[in-house]
Amino acid sequence: PPSILWLCRDFRFRDNAALAAAAGAGPVLPVFLIDGALRAQGAASRWRLQRALLAFDAELRRRHGATVLVLEGEPWDILPALAARIGAGSLHRNDWPEPATIAAQQRLGRALAGTPVRLVLHPGHLLVHPRALRTGSGGAYRVFTPFARALRAIGPDRPGGEAASLSPLTDLPRGLALDRLDLAPDLHRGRAVLERHALPAGEAAAQARLGDFLDRAAGYAAQRDRPDLQATSGLSEHLAMGEIGPRDLWAIASARAKADPAASPGIAAFLTELIWREFAWHLLIEFPRLARQPWRPEWADFPWRGDSAALTRWRRAETGIALVDAGLREMRVTGRMHNRVRMVAASWLTKHLLTDWRLGLAHFADSLTDWDPAANAMNWQWVAGCGPDAAPFFRIFNPERQAAQFDPQGRYRRRWLLGWQGAEGEEARAYFDSLPPGWDVPRTWQDRATPERLAQGRARALAAHAAFR
Ligand code: FAD
Repeated sequence: PPSILWLCRDFRFRDNAALAAAAGAGPVLPVFLIDGALRAQGAASRWRLQRALLAFDAELRRRHGATVLVLEGEPWDILPALAARIGAGSLHRNDWPEPATIAAQQRLGRALAGTPVRLVLHPGHLLVHPRALRTGSGGAYRVFTPFARALRAIGPDRPGGEAASLSPLTDLPRGLALDRLDLAPDLHRGRAVLERHALPAGEAAAQARLGDFLDRAAGYAAQRDRPDLQATSGLSEHLAMGEIGPRDLWAIASARAKADPAASPGIAAFLTELIWREFAWHLLIEFPRLARQPWRPEWADFPWRGDSAALTRWRRAETGIALVDAGLREMRVTGRMHNRVRMVAASWLTKHLLTDWRLGLAHFADSLTDWDPAANAMNWQWVAGCGPDAAPFFRIFNPERQAAQFDPQGRYRRRWLLGWQGAEGEEARAYFDSLPPGWDVPRTWQDRATPERLAQGRARALAAHAAFR
């Protein structure tokens, strides 16, 4: 009988167990749902997801003459009826173990009870099965280093299969037209600017980016903290959309490390970062409230500041702190931000402006094209000091020292604050000019960041810290 492939951030053909299982069982109907879980995601992430979906659909047509059926509604309402309509025997899905998705999958399972249709979940979003790693006493890990050691000891799972052939289902039900789809109508930022800054989407682009990164991986360990250099992989968007699977990524990178001793230390450091991603998902699965509640209960009553003019200035990249504003502008214009600058920007919001980390988390969730519920939540809690294995509260990033160390010639700051040169400068200016009133961003950082303002800001932050102590 035919089967349904229910797509979820797994827009790839390699290492795609659900796709391989569905294709092996008979004709396949790939389906994507515009459901509540999708609508709850940030605008930039939905915008990026649409590009992933279109790239996957194009490749599906080219390889197999099939297309993705896009429907609007909740899985428990739509999928049982769809399965009955096409006489499907099973519904395959790569498990994306995010709390809202788990709940939706469970509800769908209940809706399918009593029907001949089986819901089959396949692992593949993570390096190992979510329950594979437990501490000696059977609990969840709370500290990264033993978690990483345990993962390295068992090794990641082998990549899943790739379907050699796939027979599409004919006589398709009618769905939404892909060429007129807009998954992010609420994207209030300059869409045209985001589009011009977009990196290529899709599986082929992800593999090409990995290949390019491995050629320059020797410099990764030493340079990964430098936002002014192209030292990191830039793979996070592809990972967030499942255009490359982590097991596949691990296998390809490890093989390269064996073959190329000069690149090996850089690749080892890179794989450690991939374990941070895994650790974040481990925490989210074990503690589904990770994005809403502090991991450490003693933080529950911390008197964070809520909405404020300072928060608005931070969101608008007008804090007057060069590295912070540069990063927040990079994110507004491109949907991306370098990891070191994410840490500094998050630290400024939580440690200097004493603002609730959840407000920063929400802004990142709405703005990042690589938004990942686990990585975003774990990292915000880490910076704020309330997460497991977090930086202690008294450790505060000094943005000027960070800038001097990691952007020594000021190239990164100039690029996003002052150096609006050439075509890119024109785009950025047009973008800022197109913003509705109230979104007036100064043309240069220097317009606002007078020495007096900086001194005032610092004095206020110090007073706030003294009051907290
Ligand atoms: P590389 O340095 O090439 O790293 C390779 C991969 O390892 C990344 O693609 C990513 O999957 C993983 N990784 C690297 N650093 C981390 C980390 N600190 N935590 C978890 N995984 C990591 N990453 C996201 O993918 N989505 C988010 O929503 C997100 N929000 C963040 C919020 C804050 C406040 C901070 C401090 C970090 C956040 N990160 C997030 C982690 C990190 O900044 C990005 O993964 C990284 O910048 C992506 O660039 P890259 O692919 O070039 O990274």
